[in-house]
Amino acid sequence: MDLMKTRRADLAVVGAGIVGLSHALAAARRGLKVVVFERTEPAVGASVRHFGLVWPIGQPEGRRHDRALRSREVWGEVTQAAGLYCAATGSLHLAYADDEWAVLEEFSECGMGRSEQRRLLSREETLARSGAVNPVSLKGALWSPTEATIDPVQAIRALPGWLAETHGVQFEFNTTVRTIDLPAVETTRGTWSVDRVVVCSGGDFETLYPEIFAKHAITRCKLQMMRTDPQPDRWLLGPALCAGLTLTHHESFKRCATLALLEKRVEREQAFLFGHGIHVLLSQNAPGALTIGDSHHYGLTVEPFDREDINEAILTYLRTFAVVPTLAVAERWHGVYPKMKDGRSELIAEVAPSVWVVNGLGGAGMTLSFGLAEEVVAGFI
Ligand SMILES: Cc1cc2nc3c(=O)[nH]c(=O)nc-3n(C[C@H](O)[C@H](O)[C@H](O)COP(=O)(O)OP(=O)(O)OC[C@H]3O[C@@H](n4cnc5c(N)ncnc54)[C@H](O)[C@@H]3O)c2cc1C
Repeated sequence: MDLMKTRRADLAVVGAGIVGLSHALAAARRGLKVVVFERTEPAVGASVRHFGLVWPIGQPEGRRHDRALRSREVWGEVTQAAGLYCAATGSLHLAYADDEWAVLEEFSECGMGRSEQRRLLSREETLARSGAVNPVSLKGALWSPTEATIDPVQAIRALPGWLAETHGVQFEFNTTVRTIDLPAVETTRGTWSVDRVVVCSGGDFETLYPEIFAKHAITRCKLQMMRTDPQPDRWLLGPALCAGLTLTHHESFKRCATLALLEKRVEREQAFLFGHGIHVLLSQNAPGALTIGDSHHYGLTVEPFDREDINEAILTYLRTFAVVPTLAVAERWHGVYPKMKDGRSELIAEVAPSVWVVNGLGGAGMTLSFGLAEEVVAGFI
């Protein structure tokens, strides 16, 4: 990288995960000259470690759901323009027990569940919609067309090049931001002069503004994940799949009074899954591999050791609702995301004049970032 090129920008973004890239796009679309600093090359944080699911149905009705739908729209625009994978797969929430079906029925009768696009499917309609659904004991499903699947590794590695080419965003990889004292941004590869900064440092709470993170109700969540090799014969999953456990996990279902019964049964009968925060989603990436997860363990210190009994429990639960050509695991990893402990969906703080921290999007960063970034940038322009 040429160290002699101009070291002046309107906006500096710290971090080239999805939160940072979204802010770079939103600001560049408004005509700002943007530089993005990323510690590694390529970025290897939470944004490459997930399912690739853009999942509006998991967001509660109102501002957050609208934000998710806007993000879904931007994902469509960006992936099309950059020639990246974005499959309008939709999603199926599958029910195998009466209490699961009751939640789906209640959800589909109110608010965003009542939207014309989302509807309950009978057992037969569900099986007609997806060849990957386990028919044994199936009661039916909630179909939603708003969910999309992107390929996180492909997207996060290709978007910087596309943003540079089409929007003039400058990327400084292998560059850690050490301190910010506007207009100066001091990095491991020199000092820049900028008007504003957005700090999108993901799970790193220690390098910049540690005292700010310490005083907010933010923690980390560790999640175990697995991936198969590409499925044989170009087999396609179709809609992303999940089942009853997911109903207990996503906020959109919390408004359902029937959820309490399901939660009690899960706690009583599926103590291991409950204890490790396991709920299971299945998606497919660009080459056709299945991504499977996940568990949820909270705490500032992330346990480095992955547990095989947790992976086994995830696969065992997956088999209760999905039938696919092969579940032979080719890759295992864990990811970490920051999560607010006080119910907020993100942390946005102006930590010094014209310096914002945007963090804590939890398990919905891919779903919310593009929409959120447009709001943040509109706020400071
Ligand atoms: C296993 C897993 C599954 C998930 N599934 C989904 C899903 O299906 N759908 C969904 O919507 N969301 C999902 N999420 C959540 C989503 O991935 C996160 O919310 C999102 O990736 C967070 O993005 P980020 O940019 O804040 O963090 P990151 O991607 O971690 O990026 C932060 C970047 O900042 C860089 N950085 C930090 N400090 C500095 C510094 N001082 N100088 C330079 N660079 C710095 C880091 O190197 C890093 O690359 C999942 C997350 C995980 C872990």
